[in-house]
Amino acid sequence: MKVLINAGPWLPVPPTGYGGIENVVATLIPPLRRMGVRVVLATVGQSTIEVDEVLRVYDEGQFPHLQEPYNQVMGIAHAHQAALVAELRRRDDIDLVHDHLEVVGPAVLSALGGPPVLHTLHWDLRKHPDFYGSFPRDISVNGVSNSQLSRAPARLRAASLGAVHLATPLADAPPLDVPRGEHVIVMGRICPMKGQHIAARVCRDLGLPLVMAGPVCGLNTPEELNAVLDDPGHPLNGHGDLRYHAERVAPYLDGDLIRWIGAVGGEERDRLYASARAALFPIQWDEPGGTAVVEALALGVPPVGLRRGVLPEIIEHGRTGLLADTEEELVGLLARVDEIDPEECRREARTRFSPHVMAQRYLDLYERTLTRARRRAKPPLRSIAGGGMASVAAARAR
Ligand code: UDP
Repeated sequence: MKVLINAGPWLPVPPTGYGGIENVVATLIPPLRRMGVRVVLATVGQSTIEVDEVLRVYDEGQFPHLQEPYNQVMGIAHAHQAALVAELRRRDDIDLVHDHLEVVGPAVLSALGGPPVLHTLHWDLRKHPDFYGSFPRDISVNGVSNSQLSRAPARLRAASLGAVHLATPLADAPPLDVPRGEHVIVMGRICPMKGQHIAARVCRDLGLPLVMAGPVCGLNTPEELNAVLDDPGHPLNGHGDLRYHAERVAPYLDGDLIRWIGAVGGEERDRLYASARAALFPIQWDEPGGTAVVEALALGVPPVGLRRGVLPEIIEHGRTGLLADTEEELVGLLARVDEIDPEECRREARTRFSPHVMAQRYLDLYERTLTRARRRAKPPLRSIAGGGMASVAAARAR
């Protein structure tokens, strides 16, 4: 089977730091290839993952622009997808497209009528009610949790083949030899939904050291953030996440007990996780996937969070982490983190959230997508001539 995986134009695969979807794609590809699937990856030029073929549209990840006003940057996703469509029109060897580009992906691929498509839904499905409420019937979808799918409109649920939980390569890695510190961490984008202000408040009240890691609006360091704040004309100034950081998180930052260290990546990120007593998830939304929760488990760091979204599907309260219904309860639970056995967390990650487990689930969904498509017996649009990726890249270079 040859699958075109569309990772979109935002960040490289694997990402060098933050990158939710790109992490999923990077985790999925190696075991899929070991199972005999040939992978063509549509991504940006900076991607370094080994695949059978790469289709590059943009040289660099466009994530920093994603935070700018929509009417100024909406063309990015469309340019990427248009190049992918031109490529699909040019060739006839792709059996299935596994798409990860929110809304633009399924909208454009449905209009193409090319190879069968499985689109993975990564976000809150109450978004885009117009599109999800009239979702194209020829596209199959999967969610990243049952909780996420339970909130989908009926039309999207009808297109769904079920949920595939997220995975992490850390589940297969030997434990890191890192001494455990006293601090707790919050790993993720700094934004109201992730609730860093609650983590800061709770830790300040308890006198517990807190390290927050993650980008704000795609800005990876305090210096980058300050440069934007100092430039009133910068398109990111006034962005909700920037205001959140300035008004609700920064007042707690004292450079000592409560710290924000910017985004971290690679081994630095893993060592930071592994050195923490607990990973906090005081989420203020129904987190659909929760890669960071799975990573914490895999590194033997007890996740402690609010009982919302995917968290109860990943964490078994009292065995592999702790779940609270309120902020007050969360405070109490932080005194109990040492009751959770790190080895039990790692074992859970190995059995439920390993790349191999995720790839097996996706292979099954690919087969079911193909079966569905055969039943519909839609003639593939393989012979239409098109410009192809190379010509788009060349045009952009001019
Ligand atoms: N992440 C990272 N560095 C950071 C902050 C986050 O590498 O400074 C990673 C984190 O480890 C996880 C991903 O970015 O793999 C975030 O995924 P998650 O599903 O938790 O959040 P979302 O996709 O909603 O941002």
